[in-house]
Amino acid sequence: MKSPLSAEILSVGTELLLGNTTNTDARDISIYLSELGINVFYHTVVGDNPERLAKAVEIARGRADIIITTGGLGPTCDDLTKQVLAKAFGLEMVFHEELAEEMKRYFREIIGVDNMTENNLQQAYLPAGCTVFRNEWGTAPGCAFEAGGVRVIMLPGPPRECNAMFTACAMPYLRALSDEVILSHSLHIVGSGESAVEAKLRSMMNELQNPTLAPYAKEGEVMLRITAKAKTAEEAEKMMQPVIDKVREILGDIIYGIDTGSLEHVVFELLKSKNMTISTAESCTGGFIAKRITDLSGSSAVFMGGAITYATQSKTSVLGVPDELIKKHGVISGEVAAEMAKRARELFGSSISVSTTGLAGPEGDGINPVGTVFVALAAENEVFVTQLNSGFGRTRVRTLASNCAFDMVRRYLTGLPVVVDYHKR
Ligand code: ATP
Repeated sequence: MKSPLSAEILSVGTELLLGNTTNTDARDISIYLSELGINVFYHTVVGDNPERLAKAVEIARGRADIIITTGGLGPTCDDLTKQVLAKAFGLEMVFHEELAEEMKRYFREIIGVDNMTENNLQQAYLPAGCTVFRNEWGTAPGCAFEAGGVRVIMLPGPPRECNAMFTACAMPYLRALSDEVILSHSLHIVGSGESAVEAKLRSMMNELQNPTLAPYAKEGEVMLRITAKAKTAEEAEKMMQPVIDKVREILGDIIYGIDTGSLEHVVFELLKSKNMTISTAESCTGGFIAKRITDLSGSSAVFMGGAITYATQSKTSVLGVPDELIKKHGVISGEVAAEMAKRARELFGSSISVSTTGLAGPEGDGINPVGTVFVALAAENEVFVTQLNSGFGRTRVRTLASNCAFDMVRRYLTGLPVVVDYHKR
């Protein structure tokens, strides 16, 4: 087999072409494959049509070492993936009695149906000589086989089953193809865009071949993945450490974690470890900060509560921000943000509190540019305010403002300067 291996993901399902279903399986598998150091060069989507699927398989086998199909393994007449793939690679379909029994048991014990319909038995037919991937999360088994120098892996379409079977069955199968270990670490960065991070690391990225260093961006955050290939895990770790150290030295405190969960998760853990609590007073973020915290299980240990004081009047009636202060400085101001955070801290009796007030747009207010947001953090005897200008896009403005709030908390709790200029990073 060629090295490094390349894969093509062949997603089968008319619903994907019609736009009824987003192809999350291909996205998820691509992420897993990159962890395995397997290059994904093509994503192909084809409807439930045997001729077009056969053509897509012909093309894929000419350009990939591994073909991974998703969908079309079920019991209905449009589920044709196995038959088409088996025919394309000249394999017979073989009935697996034990899979049929498992299916009957699944229907009886999980679904509560005694008489499974006959068409379900179609799922117990698999290409001859394949490695069977049992499906503990549904009924359609998957499989893998090697034919004509190509590896084929077939997985069911429902994302829950596809993901579970990829990690439980396909991942070990693919790992066993190589006698090398591939390990990765992820460095999580907030407060700097992908291009700024890339500019600082460009020459390093270009020079590195093993380990490799690659940036992945999402709104307001960057993840840097360092991946090493070696004979042993120990050796791979040894190869990655100097790269991690160097990146840390270059990027400094904008790295909020290594192999951690989200930014809010890091904040949650910090608060927990310090026995501290937090509350929120949100205007333009509309409860998004509170949502992100309460998405985490166990957040009641640190989150006291939040107020969404969207209308100017609510900032006064709910939080008690003085009317004169709002009139003097404007509702979108550092002074009002600071007062909101201070008052929320008192209202909820939390150790610290964060607040936001700003203009998410797209309509302006004639005073502030769209995207202007003030984010404040109030602690026992001090208040910090950061001014952001995130530009257009309501989602972007809210995401960046909530990131800023979490980052200010992280900085406060770890003794870093709390207020930084995010636009100069
Ligand atoms: P089943 O046993 O459920 O029929 P299957 O392998 O035949 O499994 P499909 O019938 O192709 O899978 O798809 C079942 C459902 O899974 C689809 O209706 C769709 O909602 C979802 N699905 C299929 N393919 C994908 C995909 N690539 N990404 C996300 N969801 C998908």
